[in-house]
Amino acid sequence: MIGDRKKTAAVFLALASLLCFLEPKEALNSMEIDPFAAPRRAMLENDLKGRDIRDPAVLTAMEKVNRHLFVDENMKKDAYRDYPLPLGAGQTISQPYIVALMSQCLALRKQDRILEIGTGSGYQAAILAELAGAVYSIEINKTLADNASKLLKKMGYQNIWIKEGDGFFGWAEHAPFDAIILTCSTDKIPPLLIKQLREGGKIILPLGDTFQVQTLVLGIKKGADLILKNITPVRFVPMRGEAEKGN
Ligand code: SAH
Repeated sequence: MIGDRKKTAAVFLALASLLCFLEPKEALNSMEIDPFAAPRRAMLENDLKGRDIRDPAVLTAMEKVNRHLFVDENMKKDAYRDYPLPLGAGQTISQPYIVALMSQCLALRKQDRILEIGTGSGYQAAILAELAGAVYSIEINKTLADNASKLLKKMGYQNIWIKEGDGFFGWAEHAPFDAIILTCSTDKIPPLLIKQLREGGKIILPLGDTFQVQTLVLGIKKGADLILKNITPVRFVPMRGEAEKGN
């Protein structure tokens, strides 16, 4: 009996010491698996919470979505830094703070349907997909549209639809939208986008001359009009296609 008890105690001790031994190793492994955890945390604390990003859902989405997956290999080390990065084809993935700010301004609800103009890397679309019900995103550059589509599918997003095309015309089949976001600048809001926004819906975009600093504006649809509010100066790549014809 005593011998049995001793044996049980010995097995218990052996198991306990094995667990103690495993625990720090596991922690080390998880740090090794995610070398971006520290820069992502710094982005969250300094560049988002340290400014005016307060919406918990936006902060959670910014923490969850791995921005380094949306940039080229040689730029991954800068993926969580406070500036835009090149995407190729002369386009850029916006600074994380601006992505968070635009998302926060839209005050999205879980069931909302969003239209994005300018898919680019697909990063903003992923953030929106974390916050809303369905994201429809239009990209004029075929390579970018295809790459973003593949990446987002691989990441498991099932509520994002991407199409190659000119966002000037919107996406009538899925209208009306609760919110519209343009991630390329224009000096006139395309009229079809206003038409495809629901009454009371919000639109956010960089408004202004392509070669100057633009103003990020938030519009709320009231009847056929928009009530506009200036948010902050920004600099985005210009909207191409039909929007250029008016210049
Ligand atoms: N939201 C993107 C960044 C977009 S950069 C991200 O999170 O990575 C702006 C994008 O707008 C570019 O990819 C550019 O090709 C696209 N674009 C420019 N004009 C457009 C238009 N008329 N319709 C749709 N996309 C357009």
